[in-house]
Amino acid sequence: MTRFTPSEIEPRWQKAWDDAETFKAERDESRPKYYVLEMFPYPSGRIHMGHVRNYSLGDVVARYKRAQGFNVLHPMGFDAFGMPAENAAMATGGHPKDWTYGNIDDMVAQMKPLGLSLDWSRMFATCDVEYYGQQQALFLDMLEAGFVTRRNATVNWDPVDMTVLANEQVIDGKGWRSGAEVERRELTQWFFKISDMSEELLEALDGLEDWPEKVRLMQSNWIGKSRGLQFSFERLEGGEPVTVYTTRPDTLMGASFVGISPDHPLAKELAESNPEVAAFRAECAKGGTMAEELETAEKKGFDTGLKVRHPLDPSWELPVWIANFILMDYGTGAIFGCPAHDQRDLDFCRKYDLPVVDTFFALDDPQPVQAEAFTPTKEQKVKWVNHFAGLDEATGQEAIDATIAFAEAAGWGEGVTKFRLRDWGLSRQRYWGCPIPVVHCEKCGVVPEKKENLPIELPYDVSFDTPGNPLDRHPTWRDCACPSCGAPAKRETDTMDTFVDSSWYFARFTAPRAETPTVREDADYWMNVDQYVGGIEHAILHLLYSRFFARAMHATGHLPEKSKEPFNALFTQGMVTHAIYQTKDANGRPVYHYPEDVVVGENGAALKDGTAVEVIPSAKMSKSKNNVVDPLNIIEGYGADTARWFVLSDSPPERDVEWTASGAEAANRHLARVWRMADEIAASDSPANDEDAALQKALHRTIADVTEGVESFAFNTSIAKLYAFTNTLSKSKAGGAAKKEAMATMAQLMAPMTPHLAEELWHMLGREGLITEAAWPKADPALLVEDTVTLPIQVNGKRRAEISVPKDMDKAEVEKLALAEEAVQRALDGAAPKKVIVVPGRIVNVVA
Ligand SMILES: [Zn+2]
Repeated sequence: MTRFTPSEIEPRWQKAWDDAETFKAERDESRPKYYVLEMFPYPSGRIHMGHVRNYSLGDVVARYKRAQGFNVLHPMGFDAFGMPAENAAMATGGHPKDWTYGNIDDMVAQMKPLGLSLDWSRMFATCDVEYYGQQQALFLDMLEAGFVTRRNATVNWDPVDMTVLANEQVIDGKGWRSGAEVERRELTQWFFKISDMSEELLEALDGLEDWPEKVRLMQSNWIGKSRGLQFSFERLEGGEPVTVYTTRPDTLMGASFVGISPDHPLAKELAESNPEVAAFRAECAKGGTMAEELETAEKKGFDTGLKVRHPLDPSWELPVWIANFILMDYGTGAIFGCPAHDQRDLDFCRKYDLPVVDTFFALDDPQPVQAEAFTPTKEQKVKWVNHFAGLDEATGQEAIDATIAFAEAAGWGEGVTKFRLRDWGLSRQRYWGCPIPVVHCEKCGVVPEKKENLPIELPYDVSFDTPGNPLDRHPTWRDCACPSCGAPAKRETDTMDTFVDSSWYFARFTAPRAETPTVREDADYWMNVDQYVGGIEHAILHLLYSRFFARAMHATGHLPEKSKEPFNALFTQGMVTHAIYQTKDANGRPVYHYPEDVVVGENGAALKDGTAVEVIPSAKMSKSKNNVVDPLNIIEGYGADTARWFVLSDSPPERDVEWTASGAEAANRHLARVWRMADEIAASDSPANDEDAALQKALHRTIADVTEGVESFAFNTSIAKLYAFTNTLSKSKAGGAAKKEAMATMAQLMAPMTPHLAEELWHMLGREGLITEAAWPKADPALLVEDTVTLPIQVNGKRRAEISVPKDMDKAEVEKLALAEEAVQRALDGAAPKKVIVVPGRIVNVVA
């Protein structure tokens, strides 16, 4: 007898799928399509357990939908531009392109053994000229349609890496990679005008019913709609008034200063004649532009000496300060400070000895503000002090609405809706990205490149020996003819943010080799992505940018109307975690141990020499903590099916799953057991008997339960049902034919999770063709009907026992059985019951 040998089974079935081109997706208008996509990986060079889980989840959906008769598109690619390739080139002297393509080859070689039902013929990397050339075409269309603009902007500048950083790349005021203190700089930058779509992107969230609620909420907060008041403070000295925007105009009577951003035009104007202002502005230019960053930084101010008048009282003068925490690109870059009801303003006023004026009190505690600002929610009722709109007790929101109405009626202010969402700065001063296809001409200015000159290909002969953008230093690449006048001109050397590359790759998969960004027939058929699977860390930027791009692609004719929201359903999976094993060295510093060096027993964990080990459970896998499990080792040791089965089985997909060696072994043992059972059943010729019906019934219950689990992304529940049915089948005394039927059907139900083993079982049982091509089993509703029912028995209102009876048993029979129960007899204590009431299917009541 042979054994379960995944190392032999798995490559054989992968080859069978390849030979049959089972997963090649072709447009077929006669069949319904299903498009399932996992967020594509960055080619770091190695797959990790998180990838295995992500792709296994998607693969369950893809294989299940295929079995249901859908024409499935399930592609894979690589998000291949970005800084790590340049960093690697700088560190090792290689080339980003060689590094990237080498890593892609390695990762494909690591992914193929997983047996994912992917259409590899559609694979691309975003650094393929074929891809980014089409991205340039798309950019030109978006530029022409008004979705792109170029303007000055304050940016986070990393002085070591010589590049602009996104806010997310600034950590504690320092560049995420270089660790250098980030500076704020003004640069001319390219922007996608995503903020024009704020309202639409916000409202459409309501329609995304198959997205996780938390992702919709995160997007909504990021877009950040607010309604506030815009008005101006007249300057005593004359000149341009200071216009402010505030979401809390109701606190205007508590104003104690007017603050402007260091980048406000007035601050710039003052700096020209006042060196102290210039020095203060320079000091503020250190540190990032991110609101959260400024929130935690020390509050610094500079008294300009200028004064403004309070709009409600011309004799009330307020000083104008430049403050480091005010952002120029939010609102108007100017605020009024109300220290009593804003902690940041309070800290500022205490520091600079400015007055603190209460405008409202808590209903039950009318104490003036001391060290802590009073900041109730907008829904809480408070007691107002001398409010100009005549309020007494009202909530913050009521006061805001009343104030806006008051200001509008009096003509000194205007209710304005603003969004937190900023335009998307896409310029990067890096080499390894998609070149922005425009040309700078001395005579014509900035001119879009002609489409027939695309792609603008990255030059290969560049060097990374000095910081900065190698495209700037290239001797000839920049030289070109102006597309408009033909005179010698220079190419733009900024490349695109890599988020651009990932904002439309899902559309490109519908026609990955086309000579246009998309092909309408293909996009019309394959779009939208029916099920998108990925990590919660992409809940905001990637998904928001993709939603923007899909709208812009629709407007420029590259996607149909229905694709304005490109992802019908989104699933965000949890992480794969692993325990950390830790001891302390002589100096009390932690020392981390590899799992294979630790023995876990009943009395805890220890090293092989007996040293006790502290176990930190469910930690994120990290090389520095020695708790990384390499999928390649697992596949080599147990096979891909075991790895897939384990990551799917132990917890709900949305939650973290902890990888344990014992869990992986148990998964492997189970699959081996199923294989042995199939081997036995295939050889069995025992005759049909009266156990067959019970097995068949259990099978159909399992079909229904597993199907329901897969439909609702509760794959762990489906697997639990399959474990249970394995036990049922193993104990069953049914005949050979019934058992073969049950085993073959169970193989089909397992196929989305353990496709190789499923094919093997199918083959062992003598079934024709590939299980991957077989139709999903259907539960027979007649066999799902429960034919027995459990009835509680009460004696004088107290539950004493329960009996299981056939559903259609007549009342007299039920009564007899109920009274025969020992517990009932005891409760009656020899007396005859006065009355017995049988409610069929519900309960038996005995009155003593
Ligand atoms: Zn020109």
